[in-house]
This record gives sequence, structure tokens and C-alpha cells, in this order.
Amino acid sequence: MLTVTEAIEIVLKHALPLAPATAAPGPAALGAILAEDVASDLDLPPYDKAMMDGYALRSADLSGGQATLRVIEEITAGRVPTKSLEAGQAARIMTGAPIPTGADVVVMVERTRMLEGERVEINDASLSPGKNILPRATELRRGEVVLKAGARLRPQEIGVLASVGRASVRIVPAPRVAVLSTGDELVEIDRVPGPGQIRNSNGPMLLAQVARAGGVPQSLGIAADRRDSLVALIGEGLKADILVLSGGVSAGKLDLVPGVLQELGVEPHFHKVAMKPGKPVFFGTRAGKDRTLVFGLPGNPVSSLVCFELFVRPALRRLAGHAEPGPRRLEAALQQDWQYKTDRETYHPASLEHGAHGWEVQPRPWFGSPDLKGVTTSNAFMIIPAGDRHYRAGERVAVMVVE
Ligand code: AMP
Ligand code: MG
Repeated sequence: MLTVTEAIEIVLKHALPLAPATAAPGPAALGAILAEDVASDLDLPPYDKAMMDGYALRSADLSGGQATLRVIEEITAGRVPTKSLEAGQAARIMTGAPIPTGADVVVMVERTRMLEGERVEINDASLSPGKNILPRATELRRGEVVLKAGARLRPQEIGVLASVGRASVRIVPAPRVAVLSTGDELVEIDRVPGPGQIRNSNGPMLLAQVARAGGVPQSLGIAADRRDSLVALIGEGLKADILVLSGGVSAGKLDLVPGVLQELGVEPHFHKVAMKPGKPVFFGTRAGKDRTLVFGLPGNPVSSLVCFELFVRPALRRLAGHAEPGPRRLEAALQQDWQYKTDRETYHPASLEHGAHGWEVQPRPWFGSPDLKGVTTSNAFMIIPAGDRHYRAGERVAVMVVE
């Protein structure tokens, strides 16, 4: 059977970044990967700019930081100076306003005193040429590349794109991810389950995982364990970049998903991974122009959750252009003695914290793959190798972070 690491490698081998598209760099583009180098269309600041409210003046007029000067105009942000400064003159200036020609220093208003007759007294021994002035193009120079292809758009990148006038940019689009829950026993969440029925919890959970991973979720609802129902809804799902199914991939009588997928042209790459929960997980691809990655996740809720984080999220991130697709694994110090016996690599819900000596992890009580509630008090999974072993408090163990 494949190991988890081998299975992730196979998934990533089939996951290529989507073709770039044009988008407005607004909140909807948050987290997207830039697909072009972006150069500045102007100098920023576009002029020598005052960094303080005060007076622009000529440093040559100062003697020991002192002078009495004639105020010839007032320049607020958004206005331009109309006069250049001659000897003995100053201009009242506000933060952000352009420095008038002739001036080479700004004194803050707190170091000045207004006198009668449009005059001002300056007293600031710390003044030297250039003080409190941000020279033109300090931040950006016209033509300079300000963001490189591959950058992730965070609020600061979105702000820089706005500074250089980019109302649209090339980005790697967010992958569209369709989610289909399968099972005759499933009913939608607004129904009271009848005999033998349960609510579809995987659907909403997986859609939320898609959104958290940066994908665009599309709900396909519930398919019955019947060929016709599966064919119709899977056909719809194959229009997406990624199709995620839950249920119907084990060895039960009505586990029809892998068969129907192959019938619809999905080439299987693996079906079963040496892990717990999640062993029956299926991965395949449908080739062609509208390539689709297809994941069949086992129906037990924690199997679906873990398999999504291990296999679907890295694929989604790779399609979205991320250089580091994950999963996010780290090592942490176990906080208690622990006896554990398992025949396959096991993902056990745990709480992970950053303590005084680095990452610390504690297993949470959990009775297995159906126990989703047991995961609500965890933010990680301990990765326990197969075997029967006593773990000592303080020992370093592998952990997968799942917020
Ligand atoms: P399956 O993988 O179809 O054999 O399902 C395994 C277990 O997961 C069964 O107990 C199912 O009832 C349960 N299950 C399957 N799909 C869902 C779902 N969408 N929501 C909650 N439980 C599910
Ligand atoms: Mg089922």
C-alpha cells in the first residue's frame, strides 16, 4: 500500500498551476498568486514631500538652529506651492504636501512661534538639510519592478498595486472545487433524519475546507448510491478544476464511486493509502482541456477532513500557484506519557500550542473516524507511525497543523 508521503507526491505530480487570468486586485483577490512582474508607473512620492506639519525653509537662513522668517504662503496636502523661497522666507506646510523650491528642510510646528506680521520664529538646533523631507521616489521609482510574479497578494501587496495604478493584474485564479456527498442514508441539514438516515455533515464541512484553502466552493448536494444519480452529479462536478466526493469509496456493496468515475473517463492514480483514518481514499484525473483532479474521500467525517487536508488542500494550493503547497507539518514536544498501538500511520486529533520551549502537543480524547465532535477541541493531528509503543512526555513527535 502507498504511504501518505508517496500519495501526496502522486497528487502533486498531477497538480499544475491554472492558467493566469485578469482580475481586479480587490478583497476577492486576497491570497491569490501574482502571475506577472508589476512595475511602477510613477515615482512615489511624486515630489519631495513634507513629513511633518511645520514650516519649510532654507537651512542657510539658520544660525545655530535659529531664525526669524517671513511666511509667504501656506501649502496643504493636495495643493502645490505657488512661490519659491527666497532668503529669509518660510512656507507653512502640512504633512504630505510638496516642498517649495528653494526650501531644503522642514521644522516641526512645535519648534516654532508665530509672530505678528506673518513672521515666524524658529528654534531647533537639530535641523540639518533634508530633515523632515521625504525625497521624491524614495518609496518607488518609475519603471522599477515593485512586485514579482509568484508574490502572494496580502493587503500590503494590494495597496502597492493601487499605488502604481493597477486596476487589473494577472493572477493565478482560485481553483473551482465541486463537493459531492454520496450515500442513500444522507439527508440535508434542515431535515430531521428518518430511520436509518443521518444528516450530511461532510458537505458543509468540505465546502468550508475548500474556502479556507483558498478555493471557490461549489456544492453539488447529495447523490444516492445509484449509478444514474452518481453519473449525473459527477458529470456536473467534472466541469470544476477539482471534484471532491465523500463516501462510497470503500469495499461495501454500494460503494460505486470508483467504478462510476472510471466509466466517466477518470483515470485512477491510487485507491488506498496506508493511513488511519482514510485508508480507502481514491485519487484520479480526467484528462483533456478541462482537466479535473478527482478525490474520493471515505465518508466517515474525520476521514474526509483529514484526507482533505493531506491530499486535496496541497493540490488546490498547487493549482492556485503556491510554491509551498503543504500539508503543514512540524515537530512538537509531547506533553504527556502516552501508550499507543496502531497498525497504520495514524492521524490523531491533538491540541498544539507554542510554549516557552517551542511547539507543544497534547493528544485529545477521540474514539475514531466517526468522531468529528472530538476534533472540535483540536487544532492539529499527531502523526503516529504504525507500531505499539510507549511515548514519553517531552519526546518530539510529528504533527500536521489544521488550525
Ligand atoms: P462510506 O464511506 O460511504 O462507507 O461511509 C462511511 C461512514 O460515513 C458511514 O457511516 C456513513 O454514514 C458516513 N457518512 C458518509 N457520508 C457522510 C456525510 N456526507 N456526512 C456524514 N456522514 C457520512
Ligand atoms: Mg456510503
